[in-house]
Amino acid sequence: APVIGVLALQGDVREHVAALAAAGADARPVRRPSELDAVDGLVIPGGESTTISKLADIFEMREPIDKRIADGMPVYGSCAGMIMLATEVLDGRPDQRGFAGIEMTVRRNAFGRQVDSFEAPVEIAGVPGEPFHAVFIRAPWVERVGAAVQVIGKVTGGPAAERIVAVRQGNLLATSFHPELTGDLRVHAYFVELVRAA
Ligand code: GLN
Repeated sequence: APVIGVLALQGDVREHVAALAAAGADARPVRRPSELDAVDGLVIPGGESTTISKLADIFEMREPIDKRIADGMPVYGSCAGMIMLATEVLDGRPDQRGFAGIEMTVRRNAFGRQVDSFEAPVEIAGVPGEPFHAVFIRAPWVERVGAAVQVIGKVTGGPAAERIVAVRQGNLLATSFHPELTGDLRVHAYFVELVRAA
């Protein structure tokens, strides 16, 4: 089974480890460079991107992760993890910094200006079956994508209709929502396959 780490600096690490394991990965938390060396892919969980950014420096994980991304390691970022994969962040803190990532502009806490948390159906290209019952918690949305980025998911209805909430650029995958909280393993299974293929 592909070995997939979950960046365990802050956020909902356990939920991602459980979802990855259920989707067929050998999943483990990762907080040291030596632990990163041992994985084939990485998940950056939901949480607080400003904190993850700070802790990435303190734990000396920034450079090793940038390097692995440059070498093609698959990474999936959910919510705060999506923010950590963006090349540009709106409404971020001036000192927060992401990893060498997806060429896109995300707006932090974007939906939260109307409401903190909400749920909406999202269809993801390449993931068959019913639309996702997507859970958003102070989530970002994507306001701009570069030419290399594939938009794979948008909100399908309600006040946030058409907002971009799932993207892929090569081996990098990001969603605004939290599939690890709903027991729907399809995004994690999609990522496990991506890691297997890489
Ligand atoms: N608002 C958080 C941030 O800016 C993300 C929220 C989440 O991950 N659930 O990082």
